[in-house]
Amino acid sequence: MTPEEVMTRYEQYINPAATKLFRFMGLASVEGRGEGWTVTDTEGQSFIDCLGGYGMFALGHRHPKVVEAVERQLHAMPMSGKVLFNEPMALLAEKLAAITPGDLQYSFFCNSGTEAVEGCLKMARLATGRQEIIATDNAFHGKTFGSLTATGRDLYRTPFQPLVPGFRHVPFSDLAALEAAVTDQTAAVIVEPIQGEGGIIVPPDGYLKQVEELCHAKGALLIADEVQTGMGRTGRWFGCDHDGARPDLMAVSKALGGGVMPIGAFVGTAQAWAGFVEAPFIHTSTFGGGEMACAAGVATLQVIEEEGLLDKAARDGAYFKAGLEKIAAEFPRVIRTVRGRGMMMGLELTKEGAGGMLMALMIAQHVLVAYTLNNPKVIRIEPPLILPVAVIDQVLALLHDAVRQVDEVIDDL
Ligand code: PLP
Repeated sequence: MTPEEVMTRYEQYINPAATKLFRFMGLASVEGRGEGWTVTDTEGQSFIDCLGGYGMFALGHRHPKVVEAVERQLHAMPMSGKVLFNEPMALLAEKLAAITPGDLQYSFFCNSGTEAVEGCLKMARLATGRQEIIATDNAFHGKTFGSLTATGRDLYRTPFQPLVPGFRHVPFSDLAALEAAVTDQTAAVIVEPIQGEGGIIVPPDGYLKQVEELCHAKGALLIADEVQTGMGRTGRWFGCDHDGARPDLMAVSKALGGGVMPIGAFVGTAQAWAGFVEAPFIHTSTFGGGEMACAAGVATLQVIEEEGLLDKAARDGAYFKAGLEKIAAEFPRVIRTVRGRGMMMGLELTKEGAGGMLMALMIAQHVLVAYTLNNPKVIRIEPPLILPVAVIDQVLALLHDAVRQVDEVIDDL
């Protein structure tokens, strides 16, 4: 099929408006083959992937060790029949207990980030017998009903009212507001260690630890949504680790499948799991915990360790960010600020129109970037953690040129 034929089918059978938007951004290519940090389209053009599937491709595309683990499992037992025990799931749960902070011990496997969040919300109510959930403004936790209710953006929420009762929002990074909101009926506070879709918002040092202390003082649980920040993205295993925070429940997904399999998990302490231990079939999933997905997870965690990707993300992320800051200093009319940690970075632009133009210019230069879902003024840069420094330099040079072009027309945008 030609790209045009694929896009016509998108228009007819998927979504005409989304197709038009993609075309407008210059995204008229069809994915052909992914390898390392590049995606080659069906016409043979290669793109440097600096978006990484919204943070999913931490190991790049088709990491050979993950592909090998998945292939092995494909020809043995790809999906779980749910009656007999499942070795890859047992191994992945053990490994998650070892790398997650504090006393997180038990895991339940699902297929996506939103399901992982739903599980955390349910466990929090079950464990505490309380109903209230406090989330933060501008948060992004997913788009199924519970996670959507926790998501802090009305654009996504309003059309689907009424949402789940018992949720409240407070400003992110505002401990006093949280203190005023948490009551003796609060089951949990849910936060992202760095707000991703909200615009790569890094809270002040110590915030997560203080949220943990506040929760525990009031008998509430802390849910860390590490769907985007987890698996080394920020230069540590988890975003919480920068603060030494110890959540009671954690949602993970995205990079856990190594960019090869969809997988999510929620992980909890023994205390958070107590109700689930009493009633183990109170929460189930047909596909969740399949052998192929869990084998991908085990291989992913091994690769992160063997290739030293936590240190690499911290070191090369700092280098990348310094390069972005230099460009921002040169073009303050275009870039308001640069934020981020490790390989999770965002450029906040001065105008929304500048975001669309910059994205289109970068794509024309064969670099894939996109803006954040809750904040179109922020261009996110979340490349594979394996991205070589020479490619970072190449991206910085292309970005410099693109920002210069936006600067020339910024008054008209
Ligand atoms: N939580 C966070 C922090 C996310 O960034 C996302 C997706 O971007 C989700 C949850 C939802 O994940 P999914 O799209 O896999 O449902």
